[in-house]
Amino acid sequence: MEIAVLALQGAFAEHERMLDLLDVSHFEIRQKKDLERHFDGLILPGGESTVMKKLLLEMEMLVPLRDRIVSGLPVFGTCAGLILLAKEAEQGGHCLATMDIRVKRNAYGRQLGSFYTEEICGDLGRVPMTFIRAPYITKVYGDAEALAVVDGRIVAARQGKQLVTAFHPELTEDTRLHRYFLDSI
Ligand code: GLN
Repeated sequence: MEIAVLALQGAFAEHERMLDLLDVSHFEIRQKKDLERHFDGLILPGGESTVMKKLLLEMEMLVPLRDRIVSGLPVFGTCAGLILLAKEAEQGGHCLATMDIRVKRNAYGRQLGSFYTEEICGDLGRVPMTFIRAPYITKVYGDAEALAVVDGRIVAARQGKQLVTAFHPELTEDTRLHRYFLDSI
């Protein structure tokens, strides 16, 4: 199995560390020609979604990536990666727009922008959740379903082969969410 990690900006190295821990082969997508390599799944890391969107557009990768995801490419988006996949945003705008979720960016405000908690996520039981200037999901609709809720707010969801978390599992030592993603491939 080969996993591609979008490495334009943000916390991509931390996802690569998780894949190393799980002994899974991976490579970085840094430019359009990297999309020609074979990969079975894609990770969209945390970072700054507006910057990633701008780079994806400039480098002409947005449409090919969207087409692949719509055609069933398994994808795991964390934090900014979640924002990239959302079809709707409270503040307007969208990027890959492949998931039936509505997102609120920087949703916890400045003071509570970063925090740690543990909560149930799908069938995985309690998982550690590190939030950094995180979004949350204000609505799931269509084929999307919520996987985790913290303080009444949806912080993880899936839809077919798409998985998103508002938190950063790659910043913990817990590999279960990455394993869960890989098992879906
Ligand atoms: N606030 C960032 C954004 O809007 C996301 C933060 C993160 O990925 N840790 O893109």
